[in-house]
Amino acid sequence: MDAKTKLQTLQHFIGGEWTNGSNTDTFDVLNPIDDSLYCHASKGSATDINNAVTAAKAAFPAYKATLPSERERWLLRVAELMEERKDELIACLIDEIGSPIQKAMFEFGKGLTMVRAAAGLCRNVRGETIPSDAPGKFSMSIREPLGVVAIITPFNVPLIKISRLISNAMAVGNTVVHLPSELAPRISMLFAKIIEDAGFPPGTFNVVSGYGHEIGDDLTSHKDVNFVSFTGSSVVGQHINEICAKNKTPNTLELGGKSPTVILADADLEKVMPLAARSIFMFGGQACIASSRFYVERPLYDEFVKRFSMIASKVGMGDLRDPNTVIAPIISERQRTRIKNHLKDAVSKGATVAAGGEWEGNRCQPTLLTGVAEEMTLCREETFGPVTSIYPIDSYEEGLEKANDTEYGLSSAIFTNDINKAMHFAKNIGAGMCHINGPTIHDEAHVPFGGNGQSGVGREGTDADLNAMTELKWVTVQL
Ligand code: NAD
Repeated sequence: MDAKTKLQTLQHFIGGEWTNGSNTDTFDVLNPIDDSLYCHASKGSATDINNAVTAAKAAFPAYKATLPSERERWLLRVAELMEERKDELIACLIDEIGSPIQKAMFEFGKGLTMVRAAAGLCRNVRGETIPSDAPGKFSMSIREPLGVVAIITPFNVPLIKISRLISNAMAVGNTVVHLPSELAPRISMLFAKIIEDAGFPPGTFNVVSGYGHEIGDDLTSHKDVNFVSFTGSSVVGQHINEICAKNKTPNTLELGGKSPTVILADADLEKVMPLAARSIFMFGGQACIASSRFYVERPLYDEFVKRFSMIASKVGMGDLRDPNTVIAPIISERQRTRIKNHLKDAVSKGATVAAGGEWEGNRCQPTLLTGVAEEMTLCREETFGPVTSIYPIDSYEEGLEKANDTEYGLSSAIFTNDINKAMHFAKNIGAGMCHINGPTIHDEAHVPFGGNGQSGVGREGTDADLNAMTELKWVTVQL
C-alpha cells in the first residue's frame, strides 16, 4: 500500500460533495494482516446521517422522473469505470480487509456482473393491466420506487454487496444513503467516486463512514428512510428489525449462517474434496454462506476426514498477493477472540482437532474438528473463521434431520448421485438456498439470495430487489 493511502483521511460523500462532515473526528482503519494503519476515515455523526438522508430525499423527485435509458447509461458507465479502476479496487480489497488476491479478483468480477445486471433492471420497472368487474373501468398497477433506501453492509464482501444493492436500488429509481462497515469504508468511497464520475445527479447517492453502533440507529430509524437493506450479523439484524417494525419501514435482512453440507455414501470424493475445501476456507471462512457443518455418511466418513485433513494442511497461507493464497487474516481482534474462544471451548469439552487449530499471526490455520457435541458453542453458533466440524451420519434421513437442526437457514449443499434424495433434500431443507453437488458458497446477480430464521428476512438479487425496493400502485380509469 502506498504512503498516500495511509495518510489519507476519507471524507463522506453527501449531496454530491466530499466533506469532513459536522466535526473533525476521525477513526483509524487497520490492515488486518498486521493491524498496521491503512487509512483514516471521517467519523460520521447523527448530523451527517441526517444531512445525507435530507440530500437523498431532496434528490428523489427528480431522480424518480429520470428515463430508464439515463439510469441504464449511468450504471453501465459505473461498470466501465470499475474496469478502468480494477487495480485500485483490488488493492483496496487486499489491504483494507485482507482479501487474498484470488478472493479479491473473484469479488471484483462478481461486483461487475452485479452492476451490469442492475442496468438491465432499469427497463423492467413494470406494472400490469388488471381485469375489472366494474363496467367501463380500466384497471392497472404501476410500479414506483420507494424513495430513500438505506444500505448497510458488512466487512467481508463489501464490493459484492455495494455493487449489487446500490445498483439495484438506483436502477429502479430510489436514492441511497449508504453506511459501510467501519472496517471497510475505503472500498465504499472508491465506489462513491465511481458513481460521482459516472454522472449520477448530486444527492442520489450518499455515503457516511462511521461506527455502526453509534450512528446506525440514526439511519434506520430516520423518518425519511423508506427502506432498509441490511447485511451483517444476526444480532445487529435483530436490533434493526425491531426498529423497522416500530416505524413500519420495509427491510431486507441478510444475516449469519451455519450452513450444512451433507455427503452421502455414493458421492465421488475426488470431486467433493476441492469443493468442500472451497466451502469453508475461502477468505478464511469469513463468508456468511461458508459451510461450518459437514455430515458424512459412515462408509465415507474416515476417508473424508483423512482427505480433508490433508487438504487443510496444504491450503495456501502465504502472501496475500500470491494467487495460491487462500487463507485471509481474521478481520479484527474481537473476531479473533471469538474464534479462539469457540476452539478452546470445543477442545476443553472433548472435541478432536483433526487439522489446524493454531494461529500464524492474525491468521487461523484451516481447522477441522471431529467429536463436536451439542454443548459446544461452535456446534450451533457462527464462528466466522476457517473452522468446520465433521459429523458421521448413518443415513440420508439422519443427515437431513441434523442439517435442519439449527436456528439459521442460509445456504446448504448435498453431494449424491441419487436424484430423488437430492431433490427431497432441496425441498425439505429449511435454508433459503440449496446446491446439489456444489459448494454452499455460490452467488449470482439475478438469483434470489437470502436465508430464513436467524439468517434473515427477504431475498436480494435483481428481481428480488426490484420487488422489495419498489411498490405497486393501483390505478383505475373510468372510460
Ligand atoms: P456486523 O453486524 O458487525 O456489521 C455489519 C454492519 O452493521 C456494519 O456496517 C456496521 O457498522 C453496522 N452496524 C452495527 N451496528 C449497527 C446499528 N445499530 N444499526 C445499523 N447498523 C449497524 O457484521 P460484520 O462483522 O461486518 O459482518 C459479518 C456478519 O455478516 C456475519 O454474521 C456474516 O454471516 C454476515 N453476512 C451475511 C451475508 C448475507 O448475505 N447473508 C453476507 C455477508 C456477511
